[in-house]
Amino acid sequence: MGSPPRIPTNAPAHEATSCCPHGARPLLGGPIVSFLAHPAEDHTSPADPTGRDDDPRDQLLAATTTDHYRRTVTEGVNRVASKIARTTRPLTGVSTTELGPLVREVDLDTPLGDAGAALDELETLYLRDAVYFHHPRYLAHLNCPVVIPALLGEAVLSSVNSSLDTWDQSVGATLIERRLIDWTAELIGLGGAADGVFTSGGTQSNLQAMLLAREEACRRVARKSERPLRAAETLPRLRILTSEAGHFSVAKSAALLGLGYDAVIAVPVDEQRRMSPEALAEELDRCAREGLVPMAVVGTAGTTDFGSIDPLPELAELCARHGAWLHVDAAYGCGLLVSRTRRSLLRGIEHADSVTVDYHKSFFQPVSSSALLVRDGGTLRHATYHADYLNPERADRELTPNQVDKSIQTTRRFDALKLWLTLRTMGAAGVGELFDAVVDRAADAWALLQADDRFEVVTRPTLSTLVFRYRTPSGTPPALQDEVNLHARQALFDSGLAVVAGTKVDGAHHLKFTLLNPHATLRDVGAVLDLLAGHAEDRLAATEREQRTPTARPAPADAATDAAEATADRPLAPLRAG
Ligand SMILES: *Cc1c(COP(=O)(O)O)cnc(C)c1O
Repeated sequence: MGSPPRIPTNAPAHEATSCCPHGARPLLGGPIVSFLAHPAEDHTSPADPTGRDDDPRDQLLAATTTDHYRRTVTEGVNRVASKIARTTRPLTGVSTTELGPLVREVDLDTPLGDAGAALDELETLYLRDAVYFHHPRYLAHLNCPVVIPALLGEAVLSSVNSSLDTWDQSVGATLIERRLIDWTAELIGLGGAADGVFTSGGTQSNLQAMLLAREEACRRVARKSERPLRAAETLPRLRILTSEAGHFSVAKSAALLGLGYDAVIAVPVDEQRRMSPEALAEELDRCAREGLVPMAVVGTAGTTDFGSIDPLPELAELCARHGAWLHVDAAYGCGLLVSRTRRSLLRGIEHADSVTVDYHKSFFQPVSSSALLVRDGGTLRHATYHADYLNPERADRELTPNQVDKSIQTTRRFDALKLWLTLRTMGAAGVGELFDAVVDRAADAWALLQADDRFEVVTRPTLSTLVFRYRTPSGTPPALQDEVNLHARQALFDSGLAVVAGTKVDGAHHLKFTLLNPHATLRDVGAVLDLLAGHAEDRLAATEREQRTPTARPAPADAATDAAEATADRPLAPLRAG
């Protein structure tokens, strides 16, 4: 009985040397040979598969491999824990030109044979240079530090690996998801007929909401029509109204749903970047005059850039008057649902026909964790398709709980478990306290920015974002002001000392803080402002030098590097002083 050749492993000797329950192979240090790479040996392998020390079946989580599972996963947790403990900056600022080749050069056909070795390799490819959202100087996008009970949930849910499509693949998981949907719907105040489903994120929640709104609008139009009307005749007349500061996924949904980007009407906003109800009323009247159907109004409770909350009661009233579906995109603002002091900011959300919540933003959950809630659970049937193999109509009659009928996904993660363990461990009030802390911090940071002559800030925050820019001397051409701000952001990113985001306001480049980390102090904010100002001043000084000595051009070699970096997939091409 010839055992297949061992693949040499260049893994360092690993601490784990004890053996599987069946005594066949080291738990972490043993080789793993690709099943497919050795078909010949497999056909002639011994009858007892566990006799092989490289049996790929040993990599399956099973009753015989629980020690291997425990040690392997614990090893991964240990690596991340020590990484997090040692992290002194949110990232290293590595470039794609440095990292790209390392990933490309990995020979995926030659496994390392050992999870420990694979983790060692991952250290260089990923862990070393990853962006760490738990770091207090990560102030960029809507990424939150995550709560530990949710990480526990993540470990449990992926190991048991329930799928939330049907009862026979999930059992208790379906009940737990449903409890959390009911709990969230109740927090929103959607009433007794409400329902919903967990989704992969706000983008998917918004897409599904628009799908339901489209079907309901087609039905309404058909009901009023004197002759039978096909949906295809109605689609070109449908319009979605959302504010200029609404999320792009609304436009994307319109395109995906066959309505086209043009179906979205961008309603103007006020100074605080909230949808203007007067402008919305005008647009709705215009739709009526032109024979267009306002399929949905999408109000945003926490715009991605400004954290602004549209006037929901006014929106609800206009929707009722015009027969439009009201969707509230609370992907960011949903944390207010559990806030002790700010729940009233969401006043009017209870009138929504559907609501998007992203627990992976303001509930401090790991990606993915999101949900779509609807006032009338019956409307979820627009996402239903009966497949004989999965969810036959017969199952409906038997009242077997079944989530696939409500989802646009089929196989679906038990993401709800993360929120469940969070609520059962620390409670909703704890989550609300974390969100309140970052909203408080943003208010303080706004005051700091207001008092700082080096910067100008766009609006006073309602939630936890701040949009501002470095103030260049008066008379600076707008293009240079843009360049200075873009450079400051990029140079900060490259330094690895902090990360901020950027956006455009009325065509001009701005910088953005998204404060979602309760550990970030006002001192962190101040230090990042100093760093940004330093980079901005450097860029301005370099421009002045260039203008005084117009012949001082970058050397050809520098120009070539600039071109190469500009084509590389970087967030922003760095601007080099000549
Ligand atoms: C983040 C965000 C989305 C998209 O959510 P994902 O979870 O990233 O798909 C939608 N709307 C708003 C207002 C958001 O902030």
